[in-house]
Amino acid sequence: MPELPEVETIRADLERRIVGRRVGRVELLWPGCVAVPSPEEVCAELPGHRVERAGRRGKFLVLDLDGDAALTVHLRMTGRLRLPRPDEERPRHLRAAVALDDGHELWFEDQRKFGRLYFTRTAAELAEVLRKLGPEPLEAAFTRGALAELLRGRRAQLKPLLLNQAFIAGLGNIYVDEALFRARLHPLRRSDTLTSKEITALHEAIVHALRQGIVNRGTTLSDYRDAWGTAGMNRERLAVFRREGKPCPRCGTPIEKIRVAQRGTHLCSKCQSLPRTT
Ligand SMILES: [Zn+2]
Repeated sequence: MPELPEVETIRADLERRIVGRRVGRVELLWPGCVAVPSPEEVCAELPGHRVERAGRRGKFLVLDLDGDAALTVHLRMTGRLRLPRPDEERPRHLRAAVALDDGHELWFEDQRKFGRLYFTRTAAELAEVLRKLGPEPLEAAFTRGALAELLRGRRAQLKPLLLNQAFIAGLGNIYVDEALFRARLHPLRRSDTLTSKEITALHEAIVHALRQGIVNRGTTLSDYRDAWGTAGMNRERLAVFRREGKPCPRCGTPIEKIRVAQRGTHLCSKCQSLPRTT
């Protein structure tokens, strides 16, 4: 599932290519991909709008349009948002095709159909789509002190807490496991037991894991592709995620896979030990 680094990679790709373009015909090959408003309204009202900015909020990709409108995409499990080659045949899982005034198209593909498009006409409508999201971990306001403040008074296990988009926006299974390994924290560790030093380590690890993912243009396990249809390179750089049985890059102990909150969770039990008191 695409997380912050994957969505950010697509965002940066689209920024270079579609800002300034005007939307033409919109084809919904599977109208169910539209979350708001109705598919008919999208086809009638989206054409004619100009793309002003490619933004991101958590795992949502937000194309700001003129007149306070926006086209927002959440890729969920298998969604892809990309610019096909001009001669490319339409793939089987194409759900929406948006024509642009330079003759190109923007394609939304989604094998498993969990991804959604949101067309909003006002800033208030867009705010409603994004209302549940917590802070952005790569913004300047997300300091070590801000994380300490967020953790204060929370009594949750770290893994489910960090996956919660209302706590911090943009982290998912891959980057939470990688950040917890880097910070030497067990996924079941209770958030209210962290020492000051551990909070510092967790903050550094979250930022590092996300930035490394962006530098390597995202992690492709199976479905993720950037806006050009190319796989990301971050899989080679993962320390623990989907590496069960392989040696820990720090101490050589085989990486373990456990289940936490119904999610496959990867860790080194030696580097990320669970104190008896938690
Ligand atoms: Zn280890």
